[in-house]
Amino acid sequence: MAFITRFAPSPTGLLHRGHAVSALTAWSAARAAGGRFLLRIEDTDFTRCRPEYETALIEDLAWLGLDWETPVRRQSDHRDAYDAALDRLRDLGVLYRCFRTRKELMALAGVAPHGDDPPDAQAFAGGPLEPDEEAGRLADGRPFAWRLSLAAARDRLGGFEHLTWTEETAGPGVRTARPEALGDMVLGRKDIGAGYVIASVVDDALQGVTHVVRGEDLIPATSIQRVLQALLDLPTPVYRHHPLLLGPDGKRYAKRDGSVTIMALREAGVTPQELRAELGFE
Ligand code: GLU
Repeated sequence: MAFITRFAPSPTGLLHRGHAVSALTAWSAARAAGGRFLLRIEDTDFTRCRPEYETALIEDLAWLGLDWETPVRRQSDHRDAYDAALDRLRDLGVLYRCFRTRKELMALAGVAPHGDDPPDAQAFAGGPLEPDEEAGRLADGRPFAWRLSLAAARDRLGGFEHLTWTEETAGPGVRTARPEALGDMVLGRKDIGAGYVIASVVDDALQGVTHVVRGEDLIPATSIQRVLQALLDLPTPVYRHHPLLLGPDGKRYAKRDGSVTIMALREAGVTPQELRAELGFE
């Protein structure tokens, strides 16, 4: 069986040890299977991504000893493909315009308007507006996001119970999509067009990815991506969600903690061999 996997970072900051684990896990899996390893730059959100982070991550990965096929796919060069998928979902009647601000959503969900969104906050998106109210807001030029209507998607697909994927790492077995936990997710915005969730699904199919190897923080997104695969008639790869690396404080590594970036380790004189060994790779 063909084996094609990828590492798909978003250049919103410098890579840290957690990214190194993801990249090394995917790269090693491709090597072990005699398969192919791709690097994909997921930079559709130009409000958060920066070219210097892309340059830095390529240097970091090469320093770690990874190699990948070229040309590297940069999503900002292919917006039309993702916007076309968004259009298709709109034509299927499974999207609606959401005019609510983050603050309004938080209030609807009954949570404080600061800090990270609780996992279920999105579930309170509130659904589509009445047609005349929507027409009024459109006429006022109010900004909006496109949300996936889970109710409409469920009707269209005849339920979600038959939407499964094979999970090979995190609790191996057949998993069933449970998109309700994330609610009516934002799939596109006026400024950036189609966002990460769609772009990733479209590219995995387009690049023939057979195995998605990534951190288990993305298991909830997999449920939504499985729904999108069904709506867009795209194949479902096998998934391997690996455990997240925890820091000394027991919390997961995050980009905001500048002290543990790979660049900082390089500058401190750590060798790639040392870092690979520390992370459990040869
Ligand atoms: N671009 C995503 C991130 O940096 C990863 C997406 C994926 O591996 O599917 O979190």
